[in-house]
Amino acid sequence: MKKTIDDLAIFGAPPAFSKSLHVGRPNIGNREKLMQRINYILDSRWLTNDGTFVQEFEQRIAEIVGVKHCIAMCNATIALEIAIRASGMTGEVIVPSMTFVATAHALQWQEITPVFCDIDPVTCNIDPKKIEQMITPRTTGIIGVHLWSRPCDVDALAELAQKHNLKLIYDAAHAFGCSYNGKMIGNFGDAEVFSFHATKFLNSAEGGAVVTNDDELAQKIRWMKNFGFEDVDLVVYIGTNGKMNEFSAAMGLTSLESLDEIIETNRQNYFHYRKELSGIPGVTLAQFNEGEKCNYQYIIVQIDKDVTGISRDEIKDILWSENILARRYFYPGCHRMEPYRSYFPHAGLLLPETERLADRVLALPTGTAVGAAEISEVANIIRLAIANSKQIGEKLGNRPAAS
Ligand SMILES: *Cc1c(COP(=O)(O)O)cnc(C)c1O
Repeated sequence: MKKTIDDLAIFGAPPAFSKSLHVGRPNIGNREKLMQRINYILDSRWLTNDGTFVQEFEQRIAEIVGVKHCIAMCNATIALEIAIRASGMTGEVIVPSMTFVATAHALQWQEITPVFCDIDPVTCNIDPKKIEQMITPRTTGIIGVHLWSRPCDVDALAELAQKHNLKLIYDAAHAFGCSYNGKMIGNFGDAEVFSFHATKFLNSAEGGAVVTNDDELAQKIRWMKNFGFEDVDLVVYIGTNGKMNEFSAAMGLTSLESLDEIIETNRQNYFHYRKELSGIPGVTLAQFNEGEKCNYQYIIVQIDKDVTGISRDEIKDILWSENILARRYFYPGCHRMEPYRSYFPHAGLLLPETERLADRVLALPTGTAVGAAEISEVANIIRLAIANSKQIGEKLGNRPAAS
């Protein structure tokens, strides 16, 4: 354990970890079970196109979520694009800027304008109180994002959508396995979209799904993800190729079998971080509601420089020099990325809470590759950095920032 400032790597000591601690290191399930499934795929020579593993994966997801339909896809970005198109969104759609850029891109890719709405500083999710002022005659929908596994204010959003006759979709990429008032995420709005990307809680290497309780919408989405084919040789509207393949479904099914262990590890890590970080002024951990189901996948802190004397970026650089690869989720906000930055150069004026959070937020490593000893050391280094903020500021002043 590093004890003094001279033990920090930026002052010449060896890094705390010889191997890097990553944010979003994939959770890998039982290797033998995966290999059995892969052999089955190869033996059967059925590699994709609604194979048995994809069907089984869809069923299992629908069961866990308690939702009528699950349509598995190649990734969540395509799943979002298809859900957006199938639901009939056009013109303008209101979204938070505090999200992964794919949420905005899924709209802009089909020339629907993402209109960025500010977040609630407490929940860090889209602020329902700020939505009405962004509605124009061109607005057709709202996309909420359950950021860092924490559900949006789904009741307020449903009320707004109904009042203004808007479509409502959720980007639930972070929130598989989470609940809101006891009801699983996946049951809200017109449809919700999960990501099963390697870095997410449940992974199929690459993958995603749309879940919905709307029969008609589900059918349309199912056809759209398969080029618009309703039947052999019968195409009923424009579609794309959004299919999940059997290898991904095999990985997803295998990951599902380890889900309880992954949650338990994440949960223990969360409580360990909470204990270790609790005494550090200016460092605030995003809390989870323990009364709900949660995947505890994200360990997020906000760094308040006015209190710590050291910025989020300086803390990030020190962690990186110790091989702790903390990430800024999300920075700088979609409205500061292209093409949105050029389209709406002044969007930030309406997004003060988003900008404030983007400058403070830091995701710390967790998951099955991280344990109590690593967490104690991560917290220890943050504590050491804050205690020596002045000297570190001087040192980092002459040093290019780590990316
Ligand atoms: C990861 C992520 C996506 C995209 O998911 P892919 O499966 O990688 O396409 C979309 N939205 C959010 C909030 C994400 O974190």
